[in-house]
Amino acid sequence: MLDLETAVAQVLAALPAPQSERIPLAESAGRILAETIVSPLDLPPFDNSAMDGYAVRAADVRGAKPEAPVRLRLRTRIPAGESFSGELAPGECARLFTGAPLPRGADAVVMQEDSSHEGEQVLILDAVQPFENVRFQGEDVRQGGILAEPGAEISPGLIGLLGAVGLGEINGGRQPIVGLVATGSELCEAGQALAPGHIYESNRAMLAPLVTRAGGLAKVYPLVSDSLEATRAALETAFRECDIVVTSGGVSVGEMDFVKAAFESLGGELQFWKVAIRPGKPFVFGELGGKFLFGLPGNPVSAFVTFLLLGRPALRHWQGARVSTLPAYPGVLGEPISNSSDRRHFMRVRVDNEGKVFSAGKQASHALGSLALADALLDVPPQTVWAAGTSVKVLRGF
Ligand code: AMP
Ligand code: MG
Repeated sequence: MLDLETAVAQVLAALPAPQSERIPLAESAGRILAETIVSPLDLPPFDNSAMDGYAVRAADVRGAKPEAPVRLRLRTRIPAGESFSGELAPGECARLFTGAPLPRGADAVVMQEDSSHEGEQVLILDAVQPFENVRFQGEDVRQGGILAEPGAEISPGLIGLLGAVGLGEINGGRQPIVGLVATGSELCEAGQALAPGHIYESNRAMLAPLVTRAGGLAKVYPLVSDSLEATRAALETAFRECDIVVTSGGVSVGEMDFVKAAFESLGGELQFWKVAIRPGKPFVFGELGGKFLFGLPGNPVSAFVTFLLLGRPALRHWQGARVSTLPAYPGVLGEPISNSSDRRHFMRVRVDNEGKVFSAGKQASHALGSLALADALLDVPPQTVWAAGTSVKVLRGF
């Protein structure tokens, strides 16, 4: 049986080179950058005031204090968005506002709170050092500096930076269209009465946001009953319309499990079946004409975990992401946790505000109650007993 890291590496190696497209900057949050961004300008683009106050020559106001104010002549007024083409002479000041360009001749800004005025005369009540309250051109970002590199996930902060240097569009990785197909004759759509032995289908609605959060475009298909013909027809449609097809159910060893046979009958090639993890051993990965099958087990917890561990990296890598696996964060066990099986167990856990890690509840592959409470996965090696207080890493970010 494949270990998880080998399985992920095989999946990523099989994927095509990412394609890119132009994306409006304002719609790019969460997308993967596909270009190196070099700053076309300095930030700030010009020396400007960090305060509402008065631009001065620091030397003029040396020694100013409330009992011994320095009087300056008010030369001009510079709101943000305007500039002054003249130059301050000794003994002069300019009224200006946060973000307004510093006039030539001035080298510091006295904040408004340290001043008062009498007609055209301004009384400065406190000294300033040269360059105090001035934001210098290029102190934040230098023209020609690298702002972001290909493979970065675009955050709102990065959007702020790219907007500030004047970009309205970026090149981002194209998003895969991901078909969601649920198989099982026992499955019933929401809103319908449950026949004996039937259950409500929940995997497509659960997987759709996981696909979206991994950057994919989810496309939900109708339920598929357990027959070779129905499964084959459903896969044929989904493979025609999507880049990646994610199925749930029908990949175990039972004679009612048709996903592998239907996929192969369409010409699909199975790359591997079974990964040494719990939950989710029967996971299928295959390729069909440059498109990819992720055959998840039907048990909802198994489908959830295998999608996060094997499907999510593929969706991200497909878009060119530098980091495709779930981020790991440190935590400390708030209670003992053990795994007596011979496979790694990705337990559903919750992490409190102090980083203490607790089991989210019943750890069974059909147990949705604990899945709903979980905010992290804990990778527990085979045959392991961990005491409370053990330092661990938890996988988050889903
Ligand atoms: P399978 O992998 O098809 O053998 O299904 C394993 C278990 O998961 C069975 O109890 C199924 O009824 C259940 N199951 C399969 N698909 C779904 C689904 N889409 N939603 C909810 N439960 C499912
Ligand atoms: Mg089934």
